[in-house]
Amino acid sequence: MDDLDNFDDLAPFTKLVGGGRRKEWTGAVVNPPVWRASTHLYENTAALAQGPGRNEDGRFFYGRRGAPTQWALCEALTKIEPGAHGAVIYPSGVAAIAGVMLTLLRPGDVVLITDNAYDPTRSMGTGMLTDFGIETRFYDPLDLAAYEGLFCDRTRAVLIEAPGSLSMEVCDVPELARIAREKGAVSVLDNTWASPLGFAGLEKGVDVTVMALTKHVGGHSDLMMGSASAGQALYEKLRKRSQDLGIVVSPDDAALALRGLRTLGVRLRQEADSALRIARWLETRPEVAQVLCPMLPSSPGHDLWARDFTGGCGLFSFVLKGGTLTDRNRFIDALNLFAIGYSWGGFESLVVPIEPARHRDIMPWPPESQGDADRYGVRLAVGLEDVGDLIADLDQAFAAMRQARTGG
Ligand SMILES: *Cc1c(COP(=O)(O)O)cnc(C)c1O
Repeated sequence: MDDLDNFDDLAPFTKLVGGGRRKEWTGAVVNPPVWRASTHLYENTAALAQGPGRNEDGRFFYGRRGAPTQWALCEALTKIEPGAHGAVIYPSGVAAIAGVMLTLLRPGDVVLITDNAYDPTRSMGTGMLTDFGIETRFYDPLDLAAYEGLFCDRTRAVLIEAPGSLSMEVCDVPELARIAREKGAVSVLDNTWASPLGFAGLEKGVDVTVMALTKHVGGHSDLMMGSASAGQALYEKLRKRSQDLGIVVSPDDAALALRGLRTLGVRLRQEADSALRIARWLETRPEVAQVLCPMLPSSPGHDLWARDFTGGCGLFSFVLKGGTLTDRNRFIDALNLFAIGYSWGGFESLVVPIEPARHRDIMPWPPESQGDADRYGVRLAVGLEDVGDLIADLDQAFAAMRQARTGG
């Protein structure tokens, strides 16, 4: 289907449905079959000699270079990312971030990582990259002057995340990327939260966008995968480095990711709608000090979200007003429809307690705007359950927390 002449002009939801469904890969059925293959066979020595070049995509060579199931996923991811020449897939989101870093950075380089990055990204900076002689400097994405001041002639790459992990503030991604480019550094955006449907990163000036496909694209909490998309020159470097690292994704998982991708649009729309309704309800609650949900007007960075984003998702946080660690944990333990677990982006709702102060160096937590007593946070990943049922569940958990507080 994506071999239609005008495919690239079609709307995002149509691209989600048709991307990667080339006749030569699907044959007579709707989905590209699962090609479980290590060995690709050649007719004769002449065909072997005419095999694809060292870094050529989309032609049979050997299993490490994938087969039509993985190629279809890469093509579908490329089609939904405006400005992308190609997408590379990795066995997890963290592997995608590592793959990108190991492509862009050399010993002696400096990388700037946002202070509110996903925690394993931070540890990659202070651990693996430091071991390789690369210097990591954390920056506050809300302080553009300080960020600009951190660049030096060894700064090769910048890692951006929007909204920030746990605390969910939205930063000025186009401006962070513009400054990086002006300083000769490559900008990389972890775009897992919005996906290209909600934020067209490459179009907004970012050089490489990364997604944990584990979350929304998989969408069903049953697979781990990541991706990186870029324009031609960077894409070719990423593709080559991933090949050198021996990175390959199983065709079964690629087929699951493709299945998830087809419904990504409607799931994101539904989740974001429910999340905003829950966020608005939480804002009226006496137990809540602040709701950190980019789609909500009172949330930090909402103006930038409204300016740059075309969608959201079900992941957001809120801070309890006063209370103790015990109160917060009672609230979470009393929930029935929100299961306790890391990850998000599946069909089911999840909850985790958050302690942003433990995962940052320079951004204050709690922020000064919040009273110092209001420090215990909760992160919700809103799934596809009925929003009325989810609100009722939160309501009864607040009641359980209050009851325990008063001992009544
Ligand atoms: C989960 C996540 C990742 C890592 O993805 P995995 O597939 O779990 O390795 C990276 N970035 C963000 C923002 C995430 O939420």
